[in-house]
Amino acid sequence: MAIQDYTPVDTPPRAPSPLHRFGTLAVHAGSPHDPVTGAVIESISLSTTFAQSAVGQPMGDYEYTRSSNPNRDNFERSIAALEKAKYALAFSSGSATTATILQSLAQGSHVVSVSDVYGGTHRYFTKVASAHGVRVSFTPSIEADLAELITPETKLIWIETPSNPTLSLVDIQAVADIAHRSGIMVVVDNTFLSPYVQTPLVHGADIVVQSVTKYINGHSDVLMGVAAFNSDAIYERLKFLQNAIGAVPSPFDCWLAHRGLKTLHLRAREASKNGAMVAQTLEDSPYVLAVNYPGLDSHKQRKIALKQHRDGLGGGMLSFRIQGGKAAAERFCQATQIFTLAESLGGVESLVELPASMTHMGIPREQREIAGVFDDLVRISCGVEDGVDLVADVRQALKQAVVASKLTNGFSNGHGNGNVHA
Ligand SMILES: *Cc1c(COP(=O)(O)O)cnc(C)c1O
Repeated sequence: MAIQDYTPVDTPPRAPSPLHRFGTLAVHAGSPHDPVTGAVIESISLSTTFAQSAVGQPMGDYEYTRSSNPNRDNFERSIAALEKAKYALAFSSGSATTATILQSLAQGSHVVSVSDVYGGTHRYFTKVASAHGVRVSFTPSIEADLAELITPETKLIWIETPSNPTLSLVDIQAVADIAHRSGIMVVVDNTFLSPYVQTPLVHGADIVVQSVTKYINGHSDVLMGVAAFNSDAIYERLKFLQNAIGAVPSPFDCWLAHRGLKTLHLRAREASKNGAMVAQTLEDSPYVLAVNYPGLDSHKQRKIALKQHRDGLGGGMLSFRIQGGKAAAERFCQATQIFTLAESLGGVESLVELPASMTHMGIPREQREIAGVFDDLVRISCGVEDGVDLVADVRQALKQAVVASKLTNGFSNGHGNGNVHA
C-alpha cells in the first residue's frame, strides 16, 4: 500500500508525497489501516492517558492527549500532505490558531496586516495582541505599502486572500518577496478557498492557517483550526505553544474533520461551479449593482486568481450589492428558500448573510464603507446543492426583494428581521 507507506506512523518529519494528486491524498494521507483489526477507518481514540511499561517509557507514541493523540496526528498528517507542508498543527478553533501564532512573537514585535481581515482576527490584533506588547499596522493595499510599513521590529505579515466579504485578492508571492528580503515571516489565512483551490506555501508563504470549521470540515458541525508550514524552527515553537497553551481539538472533532477532509476536492469543485453560476446570474441581473467574485472576468484582480487558484477557480464565496438599499438586502436574505440566513461558510448547505448587520457589525460604518462593506452588500456561501436550483432561488429572491420593494414602496421598513443575529 504505497499511498499509506509514505505517511509513517512515527513522529515527524513528515515529508509530503511527491507521487500522488490531491484527491488521492485527501482520501489516503494520514489514514492507515488499523494494524491489529484491519479496520479501514481509524477508531476514535478517547483515552486521555497512555500506559507506560517502565517509568518514562510509554508503550507507544503517546503519553497524554493534550500533547498528542492518534486522531489529531492523523488529521495533521493529512493536512500537511494537502497544503504541501512538512508539518501541520491542529487547534481548537481557527481563532486559537491565530492566537497561538501571535503569541509566538516576542514582546515589542510589529505585525503588518491587510485591512479587511476576518472580524475575530481584527479583534485579536487590536484588543489582545497589544496587551502582550505586539503592535499591528493595517493596510488596504499591502503589495504597494508593505516596504514602507516595515520597521526593524516587523516580524510577521498577515494576509487573507480572498478577503471577507469583498473577495479582493492579494498576490502572495509579491508580498513574500518583499517580506523575505527583511527576514519577515508571511502568514496566509486560506479559509475562504481551502487547500484544494489555493496552496499558499507554494506561492512563498511561511505559514498557512485555516478555520477548519469552514471548508475543511465542510459540514457545519465542528469548530477547529489548523496551521501548516515547512520550517523546523516554526514547528518547535508552535508545537511547544500548542501543548503549553492547550487550545487543542478533541479526538472526536479531529475524527469528524478528517472524515470531512476526505471529500474536500469534490465539495470545493462543486461549490466553485455553483459560485460561478450564481455570480454570473447576479452579474446579468438588472436588480444587482455590483458583484464580487474572483471567478468572473470582471473581477479587478482576476489575473491573481488565474495565477494563484487551481484552474483559476473562484471558490464558493461571493458578495453583491443589491438595488434598493439595506431594506432590499434584508428582504433578499429572507426571500431565499434554499439559502439559509446564517453566519459562517464553507458547509455543504448554501448560506446568505448581511455583513454590515451581522458578521461585520462591529466595524464602524466609515471604516466599513472604505472597505466596500455597504449596507446593501449581501454575502453568499454556495454549498453543493444542484446549481440550477440555486440560480432559480437567487432569481426569485431578487425579484421579490427588489420588485416587491417598488410595489409596496412606503410600507417596507426592513423591520421584519428580528432573527438577524440568530
Ligand atoms: C471563521 C474564520 C476564522 C475563525 O475561525 P473559528 O474556527 O471560527 O475560530 C478565521 N478566519 C476566517 C477567514 C474565517 O472565516
